[in-house]
Amino acid sequence: MNYFHYKDSELWCEEVPVSMIARDVGTPLYLYSYRTIERHFNVFDEAFAPVPHIICFSVKANSNIAILSMLAGMGGGVDIVSGGELYRALLAGVNPGKIVYSGVGKRVDEIRYAIESDILMFNVESEQELEVINACAGELRRKARISLRVNPDVDPMTHPHISTGLKENKFGIDINKSRYQYRRARELEHLDIVGVDCHIGSQITEMSPFLDALDRLTNLIRCLRKDGIDIRYLDLGGGLGITYKEETPPHPTEYAEEIIRRTKDIDCTLVFEPGRVVIGNAGILVSEVLYTKVSSEKHFVIVDAGMNDLIRPSLYGSYHAIQPVVEKSDDHFDADIVGPICESGDYLARKRTIPRFERGDLLAVMSAGAYGFTMASNYNSRPRVAEVLVKDDRYYVIRRRETYGDIVKGEAIPSFFAGVNG
Ligand SMILES: *Cc1c(COP(=O)(O)O)cnc(C)c1O
Repeated sequence: MNYFHYKDSELWCEEVPVSMIARDVGTPLYLYSYRTIERHFNVFDEAFAPVPHIICFSVKANSNIAILSMLAGMGGGVDIVSGGELYRALLAGVNPGKIVYSGVGKRVDEIRYAIESDILMFNVESEQELEVINACAGELRRKARISLRVNPDVDPMTHPHISTGLKENKFGIDINKSRYQYRRARELEHLDIVGVDCHIGSQITEMSPFLDALDRLTNLIRCLRKDGIDIRYLDLGGGLGITYKEETPPHPTEYAEEIIRRTKDIDCTLVFEPGRVVIGNAGILVSEVLYTKVSSEKHFVIVDAGMNDLIRPSLYGSYHAIQPVVEKSDDHFDADIVGPICESGDYLARKRTIPRFERGDLLAVMSAGAYGFTMASNYNSRPRVAEVLVKDDRYYVIRRRETYGDIVKGEAIPSFFAGVNG
């Protein structure tokens, strides 16, 4: 359910025609619907209302400070994976007591920053990281709250690049060794062990991988309590999938019901780190058709957005629906929708039956709210695009389009070049 809809053959976001925003702001642009984000967050949050819980939105899915601020205002926390994401979250007004910090490669400066910010907990991914966090906390004369991110070795049945909870993945600590690791952690005096965590992958469309992981985690919690280690937080990570095409992921209420049932007697605050399910279908990428051409019987629609703006199709072969901003006649053709980047892998859709787009037409790449802008780059020295948030009948530019000046910001020509080039 989202608030992108057609009215009089035109695509609208809430109560604003998309073509109007494109005209005012230019293309390409990311467009988000406030009411859709709000709804998705609330559905998830309300599904867990019967139990103590914290919803820590995954910043890497969409890190715009307006979005983070909005979610913070609704009572959300965040899951971060870097110092930069912590900076954004604090700037957006997220309560540090609702920030969890995941990631296999936390640097000392990032760890210090997080301890000084008094975040809820670190999700620790290795034995060495435990020791480094302990040392940092000692130097700062603080205690760092930690949970171990365990790798429960379950197959999330998703794309290999976005599965993280299998033995062969780099993430987390082998669940079979984790009980021993917890005992080791207990000996480190500047650590306060508070939780158990896992995150098994992304775009998961079945319930069973979550439940298998959950069962392993609840067993571990019981074992740890026998060892005298009190666990107060059970963090099940993110990963709930969305519909890009024909997927039928569990609804958040179904997801919540099953989880609540299995955690009845565990007496923990549940923590979730959803990203995609909150923001994925709340955003689109709007692009203009630059050219069309036919080469050896293949049609190409060349648009002004490329893989630097939305890399998911190139990186994962992901499917994003392509829709006209102004509906066209029923005349369709099969085409590749490609960007301007000098790479053969630069495409938004391949072999797609789409309306017969022409130069100047606007199209919408749907379900682009998650891992869209956050994965954008300046490759080919293309300014990163504008981000716009619509609420009801108004729109707000929440990130202006970059300028050419922004692209070279921070670069410097060594002064001795002057003689050489002059
Ligand atoms: C990416 C990530 C998430 C969010 O995953 P979604 O599939 O977007 O819900 C949550 N937790 C961690 C540790 C992650 O790396």
